[in-house]
Parts: sequence; structure tokens; C-alpha cells
Amino acid sequence: MRFVYTSAPSRIVFGEGRLGDIRDEIKRLEIRRALVLSTPTRSGAANELAATLGDAVTGVFAEARMHTPVDVTARALEVVRRTNADGLVAMGGGSTIGLGKAIALHTDLPQLAIPTTYAGSEVTSYLGQTEAGKKTTLSSPKVLPETVIYDPELTAALPAKVAGPSGVNAIAHAVEALYAEAANPITSLMAEEAIRRLARSLPDVVQTNGAEARADALCAAWLAGVCLASVGMALHHKICHTLGGTFDLPHADIHCLMLPYAAAYNRDAAPEAMSRIANALAADDAPGALRALSLKVGRYANLKDFGLTDADLDCAADLAVQAPYHNPRPVDRHGVRAMLAAAYDGAQP
Ligand code: NAD
Repeated sequence: MRFVYTSAPSRIVFGEGRLGDIRDEIKRLEIRRALVLSTPTRSGAANELAATLGDAVTGVFAEARMHTPVDVTARALEVVRRTNADGLVAMGGGSTIGLGKAIALHTDLPQLAIPTTYAGSEVTSYLGQTEAGKKTTLSSPKVLPETVIYDPELTAALPAKVAGPSGVNAIAHAVEALYAEAANPITSLMAEEAIRRLARSLPDVVQTNGAEARADALCAAWLAGVCLASVGMALHHKICHTLGGTFDLPHADIHCLMLPYAAAYNRDAAPEAMSRIANALAADDAPGALRALSLKVGRYANLKDFGLTDADLDCAADLAVQAPYHNPRPVDRHGVRAMLAAAYDGAQP
């Protein structure tokens, strides 16, 4: 057995009510004038947080958008300069955390991330950005948030239609970690546990919004994020970045719909991973069980309902095979186009 295991140096503060530790955590990072970040829809919560922090906050920038468009980052950087901010507090989903990371890339400001979805971006050194309809991903230690506060109470307000797909987005990190080029015994353990916890908690999160289920899902999302950070991803993430970035589609919903089809693409090429995924899902067939979960907690049953056309699928297949990520089954255009066609029709994977 030979492997390399790299762990990202973040400080994780987890638990109900942990948002109450924010002052201490800001101090620990030596932040005196924080800029608080959020999406427009969560500006109320961001302003409330800023009010409780008083003069430790220099402003609120509530314009974060999905896929981190570079023009939004440019506007945020202007606010950083104007307000003389010396640190960032990003409270929200992957879009808000992505904006913090993009600002940190340019400024190296310390970041405190407070995730409120299951995207996992807060523990990775990856940053996906879009410019002129094209999404590119980079990796830099500069973008990794120094501290993460996971407070499951913050996910109580997350609508079921966001929570379910976001949880499957986390499962996707864990699924691809099991057949990643850099897969190793530690990340595989974390990946299997993440899938197990999310599979058991997500239906409850979506149906009852129970506190225990939300805590379980958030803890699993952290594990899955660590997997994403440690081993790199494969075809599924490539196709989701391509579809999401090119057609401006909702990130988590695309992950939720595509994951069973990407798993089916790799079914025969990654038998050990498939068996661990199936085991975590208490099922016989990994892609089939992922499809059942996706339908149970997701919003979309097929790719057609995202408004894509046949020509869009051709374009996505062309783009996805350019500079492909490592994948257990070689990535060829014919196979990728067939995978997209199956997802378009909502066929059994
Ligand atoms: P998001 O951050 O856009 O959130 C989805 C919606 O939910 C938004 O409208 C947001 O305002 C709302 N929301 C978030 N938290 C809420 C709460 N507690 N209550 C009510 N509403 C809430 O979506 P996402 O799926 O979390 O993140 C997607 C983005 O993250 C994409 O840009 C993707 O590329 C990026 N991402 C990056 C990585 C990485 O490692 N770089 C990993 C995963 C995702």
C-alpha cells in the first residue's frame, strides 16, 4: 500500500450555539475590522450578526452570487479597500464562502467561515470562479478559511428545497473521494461515514427539519468537504462545473441530479468504491440507491427540467472532455454524451 495524505490546516469549531463563540474566534485571528459577507437573500442575518459584533465590524457586503463571478469579487474588493477591512466573516452557503475565498486570494485577509449549507467549500483550498460564462477552478492555500464555525442552529432556516440538494452535493464529494486518484485509507473512511450520515439524516432534514438530523448532516458535510479538500475530484465534479458554470445552473441541484449518472458511468471501473458506497447506503447498487435518494430529497428528476436543449448537451459534452479530471473510467465524448442523455431523460442509471 502506498499513499500520500495531506490535511488542510483549518480550525473547526462545531456545535449548537457555537455562533456565540464568534467574538473569541475573531480575536484569535486578530481581526479588528471585519467585513461581513452574505448573499442578498441572507442580508438580514448578515446585518444582525454585524450589529451584535458592533465596532469589530466595518461593513456588510451582501452581493455574493453562485459560481463566484469575478465582477462581484471586484466590487467586494473595492469595499474592502474603502472600509479598510482587516478580515472577512463569510456567513452562508458555498456562494458566500466562495466570495470570501476570492477576496482572500487577492488580499490574503484572514477568513472566518460560518457555513449554513452542506457545500463543504469552507475546508478546501479550491476556488471556482466564472467570467464570461466560463468557470475555472484554482487551488491556493491563500483561499482556505483559517477558522470555521459550524453551528447547526443556522441551518434551521434553510429551505428543504435547498437543504436536500446541498446534502447530495456533499455526498458527491465523498463518492468521488472513494475513487479519486489520491484516494487513501483515511479519506475513504471519512467518505464512507459521510455518505452513511447524510443518507440517514437528509430525508429527516427535508421532511421534519429536525435539529439532530441537521447536526448529523452538517458534521457529515464537514467530513465530505475534508475529502474534497484532500484527494481531488473526478468526472462528476467536472460535468457539474461545466453545466453550472456554462449555463448558470444551480450548483447543488445539478450535483443532486447528476451524481447517480456519474456513478453509473464509473460503476464497472471502480468496483471497490461502488461496494463501499452501496454499503453506506445500505443498498446493493450504488448508482440506483443514489438515484432513489436524489429523487427523495432533490427538486429535479431530469436534466430537461433545467431548460437545457440537445445542443446544450453537445456543448457540455465537448467542454467536459477538454482537460478532464482524473477518472476511473477513461473520459470519452461518446460516453459523456450518453451519460448526459440518460440524465436528460431521467432514465434509471
Ligand atoms: P448558495 O451558497 O448559493 O446557497 C443557496 C441559497 O440558499 C442562496 O440563496 C442562499 O442565500 C440560501 N441560504 C444559504 N444558507 C441559508 C440559510 N441558513 N437559510 C436560508 N437560506 C439560506 O449555494 P451552495 O450550494 O451552498 O453553494 C454553491 C456555490 O459553492 C457554487 O458557486 C459552488 O461552485 C461553490 N462550491 C465550492 C466548493 C469549493 O470547494 N470551492 C465546494 C462546494 C461548492
